[in-house]
Amino acid sequence: MQQHDICILGAGPGGATAALHLANKGLPCVLIDKAVFPRDKVCGDALSGKVVNELKRIAPELPTLLGEQKEQLPSWGIHFISPAGHKLSVPFKPNYDAAQDVPSGYISKRIDFDNFLIEQVKQRPEITLLEGIDIAKVERNAQGYTLTDKSGKHQINTRLLIAANGAHSAFARQEAGIKQEPQHYCAGLRAYYKNVAGLDKDNFIELHFLKDFLPGYFWIFPLPGGYANVGVGMLSETVSQKKVNLKKEMLCMIETHPEFKQRFAGAELMGDIKGYGLPLGSKKRMISGDNYMLVGDAASLIDPFTGEGISNAMISGRWAAAQAELCLQQQNFSADFMQGYDKAVYNRLWKELKLSRRMQQLLDYPWLFNQVASKASKNQALAETISCMFTDLDLRERLKQPSFYLKLLFN
Ligand SMILES: Cc1cc2nc3c(=O)[nH]c(=O)nc-3n(C[C@H](O)[C@H](O)[C@H](O)COP(=O)(O)OP(=O)(O)OC[C@H]3O[C@@H](n4cnc5c(N)ncnc54)[C@H](O)[C@@H]3O)c2cc1C
Repeated sequence: MQQHDICILGAGPGGATAALHLANKGLPCVLIDKAVFPRDKVCGDALSGKVVNELKRIAPELPTLLGEQKEQLPSWGIHFISPAGHKLSVPFKPNYDAAQDVPSGYISKRIDFDNFLIEQVKQRPEITLLEGIDIAKVERNAQGYTLTDKSGKHQINTRLLIAANGAHSAFARQEAGIKQEPQHYCAGLRAYYKNVAGLDKDNFIELHFLKDFLPGYFWIFPLPGGYANVGVGMLSETVSQKKVNLKKEMLCMIETHPEFKQRFAGAELMGDIKGYGLPLGSKKRMISGDNYMLVGDAASLIDPFTGEGISNAMISGRWAAAQAELCLQQQNFSADFMQGYDKAVYNRLWKELKLSRRMQQLLDYPWLFNQVASKASKNQALAETISCMFTDLDLRERLKQPSFYLKLLFN
């Protein structure tokens, strides 16, 4: 039986970030994962500017260190392809210079990116990293929680549990009462291909909204070494209502869609097509309670429009570390006190999650989406406005106003 003040369950980006911020504060913790790193995680592998910012907050040198890794590609923007086939290209920075500027985003297989974070963890004496330990039981006790692994050999007592064990967290369901609601949950598939033709020279990621696959989306994200991450995502509600077989649909699009048929003609599927859930942050939830906090996917914080979840996992990990410090200082682990964590996370994220929910709903009106994309593909100023919307939340607010669309349609 081990005794720790703070135990973090799950060493993905959320858990590893929480541990690293605790270490920066000089606070020890135990970080447990069932996997031994490097390990794979089904994902689109796109790291946004928000991830880069969070790396900087852990240690100022980390973004440069990530940029030096040969396992990543810098990415300069997104191509949105509307149901009518209009391509709207949105650079992450307007008027960027790929040769001079520091990239705003990267694409890196999760097996590499998560291990990059774990390498940082391993350098910190404050963090006890336990790999290959599958926690099967988490039980409440008088002081906090007891965690027991599958073999029964490992038992850990903790006063504060930070549950960062991902989309399938049993703790989030059973202890925190977070239900998997199909209207706030997405199903995703990921495949790795080699030699997909026609990838962007500046590694723009591609999000295709195909008319026969709405409200789902199909993506192609370039990776180093001639690889691409290819996948699909669709709201679970739609998957079950329309009885969609995602794998069949994805392969069918690749084989029959006029553009993809050509681009994948010389491509090779590497390994299996794998699926995983995306718990969306389109609804506010209670993400803490007596002696615990939920972080990342366990707290359902994925952006409902873009499917981005790594940065939000890291942001919540950072706030969990800040709350943990307060808990230890004040020796208060009560649900009431822990509410400070919920407030901090939603103060930072709720505005953008709500707006993304709006944009997700735009997919119910493909004609409107087509109009926006068509106009923007011919109008540089509008394309730039949309580009700025990615970084400027006040500008993004305009998407909520019907007048934005009216002006667009009738100008
Ligand atoms: C198909 C798909 C595409 C996506 N694309 C993107 C994208 O391009 N960009 C982006 O930002 N986000 C994307 N996401 C979302 C992103 O993958 C998640 O939001 C992110 O991984 C959340 O990080 P996390 O640390 O909360 O959880 P995870 O990364 O899932 O880490 C959880 C950790 O907990 C461990 N664990 C689980 N159970 C136990 C247990 N019982 N005992 C011990 N350890 C345990 C796991 O081994 C794992 O290491 C995508 C998701 C999917 C499914």
